[in-house]
Amino acid sequence: MEKIVMDMDALFEGYLRRTEVLKASTNPLAQGVAFIEGEFLQLAQARIPLLDQGFLHSDLTYDVPAVWDGRYFRLDDHLDRLEQSCAKMRLRNPLGREMLRERLIELVARSGIRDAFVEVIVTRGLKFLREMPSDQAVNHIYLFAMPYVWVMPPDMQRTGGSAIVPRTVRRTPPGAMDPTVKNLQWGDFVRGLLEAGDRGATYPILSDGDGNLTEGSGFNVVLIKDGVLHTPKLGVLEGVTRRTVLEIAAAKGWKTVVDQVPVSAAYDCDELFFCTTAGGIMPVTRLDGQPVGGGQVGPVTREIWETYWELHYDPKLSFVINYE
Ligand SMILES: *Cc1c(COP(=O)(O)O)cnc(C)c1O
Repeated sequence: MEKIVMDMDALFEGYLRRTEVLKASTNPLAQGVAFIEGEFLQLAQARIPLLDQGFLHSDLTYDVPAVWDGRYFRLDDHLDRLEQSCAKMRLRNPLGREMLRERLIELVARSGIRDAFVEVIVTRGLKFLREMPSDQAVNHIYLFAMPYVWVMPPDMQRTGGSAIVPRTVRRTPPGAMDPTVKNLQWGDFVRGLLEAGDRGATYPILSDGDGNLTEGSGFNVVLIKDGVLHTPKLGVLEGVTRRTVLEIAAAKGWKTVVDQVPVSAAYDCDELFFCTTAGGIMPVTRLDGQPVGGGQVGPVTREIWETYWELHYDPKLSFVINYE
């Protein structure tokens, strides 16, 4: 692999250039594409049946891989997690793994989108579990791709976002909803986002109700204290981005700890960042209205940020989409 130096300016410049090309595209799928019941259509036209149990009871699982600069990143890791989530919820991906993989590539290729947010949703289907046992259910699958989604916009990544630990809501406990199954039961996150807005911040980091950190609305949380990375072990989705972060740290010889992380540690850390497929490494420089560490994006976060994006060009973790 050729060594790429990927600072924020270089990454965002390339991205903005590609975004301009996409905006000028005459491809009707360029602003988003869905694959529903065997057909590709414009995302804005896509509809789900009202009786889908995914909609009526959130009886579903999903996953979100992404495409960067025309390359899928860690697609097989996302498919692995989807398979595990399906198994835990007694769902089956109706396409099968290989066909799903092909459709996900075709989806993005048809749209021409070079930097894409891609979502796969597997639902129970049209019949409620009480009426039809899970082994007989006809599960549904929905795919879509759209221009890359930034949970933290590029400009905010330069200076860092602001977060709170909500007082009015905790993370749904693992005994209620298994957080290792990627799910859309967002009642806790939505309340956290509302409180964050009320308190002049953008992002909630939910506690487990027992004084430990869990995660936020679609992202894992990592804090750095004395050069050691800490991230919560329980009550969280095992994020692919978090895994990449842990691998980066290990490769650099930095110590990582995946364990319970007390909420108090967030108020006493040197650096804090969030991580997710939809936005990458997202520095957080204010917590509950106070600066985190020195109130600037820290050196460890910055180095992880750069390596994370460089890895998007590593053939071991990504592959090129043929847009022909
Ligand atoms: C998707 C998601 C994450 C991040 O997972 P990645 O695999 O890194 O994208 C973290 N927490 C929750 C609740 C999520 O839904």
